[in-house]
Amino acid sequence: MKALWAKAALSSLAVSILLAGCGSDSGTNTATDAHSDAGSGRKLQVAASFYPMYEFARQVAGDLAEVSLMVPAGVEPHDWEPTPKDMALLSKADVFVYNGIVEGWAEQALSSAGSGDRVDVEASAGLERDATGGEQASDGDHAGMDPHVWLSPVLAQREVEHIRDGLSKADPAHSADYEANAEVYMAKLRQLDADFRAALGQASHKTFVTQHAAFGYLAREYGLTQLPISGLSPEQEPTPAQMASVVKEIKSLGISTIFFEELVDPKIAETIASETGAKTDVLNPIEGLTKDDKAQGLDYIGLMNQNLTALEKALNA
Ligand SMILES: [Zn+2]
Repeated sequence: MKALWAKAALSSLAVSILLAGCGSDSGTNTATDAHSDAGSGRKLQVAASFYPMYEFARQVAGDLAEVSLMVPAGVEPHDWEPTPKDMALLSKADVFVYNGIVEGWAEQALSSAGSGDRVDVEASAGLERDATGGEQASDGDHAGMDPHVWLSPVLAQREVEHIRDGLSKADPAHSADYEANAEVYMAKLRQLDADFRAALGQASHKTFVTQHAAFGYLAREYGLTQLPISGLSPEQEPTPAQMASVVKEIKSLGISTIFFEELVDPKIAETIASETGAKTDVLNPIEGLTKDDKAQGLDYIGLMNQNLTALEKALNA
């Protein structure tokens, strides 16, 4: 498996280099002075760990930086590890953007890549990150903390601010541009938050079942309860006792929908659905785009709107 991922990582580097050349394809960036490179002929190099970090960094950077994605499309980031090529990318980067906690490899990678002048942005740092408190949180890669802050449209804004500050620190000459780009994107995140709040505040049910425990911050933001089948990482398979307790709760709450996610095998979600008579639907933890997402031009905001539609449907069924 590792070898396969390594291969995928290598090919994605080529893709991300291509993508970096058309970083403003969504048409949302306001930066207009693309002459940035004042003599050096080299744009700011930003390495981002997995998809939401890449998307937020790209939105803030506009045309002023080349942003590369490390964890390739279609790969679940919880157990991904960098290849030597990724390490080389990291050591050449001016800025490294990562969420924190998900990237168990980051600390060691950063010390072996050497720091130089690189600005490292741990986007979730300083946010109130939850300890899980659950017995399912034994897996090492999360150290018992919930990393999924990007799934709260409110906390996502804080991550964008951290990325803005990191880019400004690395490239102070363009700090006004990063500020303006971040503001444009944060306005979209505020709209997303308002849409979630309006739609889910009225929901007739408050509990939803997810494949892994990615939606705790989102649930808390909108007064909902997440009932996860597995733990904070999708690789933590539930024990038979946990399965039985989830099934019991689904039946007693009359839950109609079991959510699964596209980067993880749905067989456990399907088993639970067939045992409870519920149907299945997709709730996306936005830990990576699939090829389909890419083909449809879906991005973080597009996927969050799909999540909202799916939640609204499930909670009002
Ligand atoms: Zn996750």
